[in-house]
Amino acid sequence: MTASGGTDVCILGGGPGGSAAALQLARHGVRTTLVEKAVFPRDKVCGDALSGKVMRTLERLDPALAERVNGDAHVQASWGVTFVAPGGASLRVPFSRHTGEGEAPGAILPRVHFDDLLFQAVKHGGQVDVMEGRTAKAFDRTSGGWHITLSGPDGARTELDCRMILDASGANSTFSRHVARLPMEPRHHAAGVRAYFSGVKGLDPDGFIELHFLKELLPGYLWVFPLPDGHANVGLGLRSDMVKRRRLDLKAELLRLLREHATLRERFVDAVPVGSVQGMGLPLGSRRRSISGEGYLLIGDAAHLIDPFTGEGISHAMISGVHAADVAADMLARNDLSAMAAKAYDARVWKRLGQELSISTRLQRLADQAWLFDLVVDRAAKNPALADTIACMFTDLDLRAQLKKPGFYWKLVRGTR
Ligand SMILES: Cc1cc2nc3c(=O)[nH]c(=O)nc-3n(C[C@H](O)[C@H](O)[C@H](O)COP(=O)(O)OP(=O)(O)OC[C@H]3O[C@@H](n4cnc5c(N)ncnc54)[C@H](O)[C@@H]3O)c2cc1C
Repeated sequence: MTASGGTDVCILGGGPGGSAAALQLARHGVRTTLVEKAVFPRDKVCGDALSGKVMRTLERLDPALAERVNGDAHVQASWGVTFVAPGGASLRVPFSRHTGEGEAPGAILPRVHFDDLLFQAVKHGGQVDVMEGRTAKAFDRTSGGWHITLSGPDGARTELDCRMILDASGANSTFSRHVARLPMEPRHHAAGVRAYFSGVKGLDPDGFIELHFLKELLPGYLWVFPLPDGHANVGLGLRSDMVKRRRLDLKAELLRLLREHATLRERFVDAVPVGSVQGMGLPLGSRRRSISGEGYLLIGDAAHLIDPFTGEGISHAMISGVHAADVAADMLARNDLSAMAAKAYDARVWKRLGQELSISTRLQRLADQAWLFDLVVDRAAKNPALADTIACMFTDLDLRAQLKKPGFYWKLVRGTR
């Protein structure tokens, strides 16, 4: 056993949440150690879609890093979204009227590349100690903060002391479940599977992502996200309580739908899987939880912050990571690591993401109504103003809030929108 000494902040996990927190703590000049179980580059099961919020957060953190992401050889710029309604009708909606001009509002970049860009920026930034290939196993309170036991690939144990823990160790975080006591609740959790394919026909030349709201999957959906060279990230997700109730094997269901479903089978007839179908859980932000405590803050998936309607979690991990770094720096400067002081973090995260998460929770609850999707897609195909409204929903929260109002649907049914 070796002792690696002490630090002010220990970040658990070097995914987008942990890396964003590390970059921001470096700006504050806080002594930080990041502990990461894997050796990078490492894969992460994901749809790989980077929203405008990811790009904006990166811009603010480090413009040079944002440029590296945009210029990566594996990135596919995305200019919009195609919805396929349960009845089979589809609606192609650009994210902005200025499709093809300037920088694309979104992108698709496999996580093995995206996460590595962020992680290497932390590792080579020279301000954060990075311990790669080390798993944080046990957490004990001490008078000065925390005593963490780490285990390496050869089983060797290392000990680390710190004043604060920022837990960004993802959906299966031991710290979040057993120390912070955030349970996995099937109603507020989804299961997702994805595979990479080559040879998929009909991929959008402008990188429009495809969301297929198939009857058998509602309120979840199947996605086809285009990548360069005719490759695509294809997957599906559904709330965990429904997966259990419907007794679905999601990996088999994905392959069955691609083989048999009327809107997909022709396009996948010559498609070749690249690797296997892989699955992972999505802790959803459909319930407000306490995400901090004495001497610790939870970030990203460890804090259950994934959008319950779209499944978007990368931006929420990064946004919460930046807030966690700001609050931690302030707590350390004031020498107040109490649970009460840490509540400033909850307040900031819910101020930034709370409204969005609550709208998405309502949308998720509406989304098992197949008729509603059919109606919206049918009307929007004939009504450019409505199509515009839907496009703006992805970039403008106020318009998205319209979907909460019963009047929206009334006008829709009467065709007066
Ligand atoms: C099927 C699927 C599709 C998805 N599609 C999208 C999408 O298209 N767009 C989107 O925005 N979001 C998507 N998400 C959500 C997104 O993947 C997550 O929200 C995001 O990865 C959260 O980032 P994070 O940094 O919190 O955690 P992670 O990215 O999971 O990073 C956690 C890190 O912690 C490390 N770690 C774990 N345990 C320990 C330990 N004990 N000690 C040290 N290190 C540890 C891990 O190795 C990992 O590197 C999807 C999720 C799934 C499952």
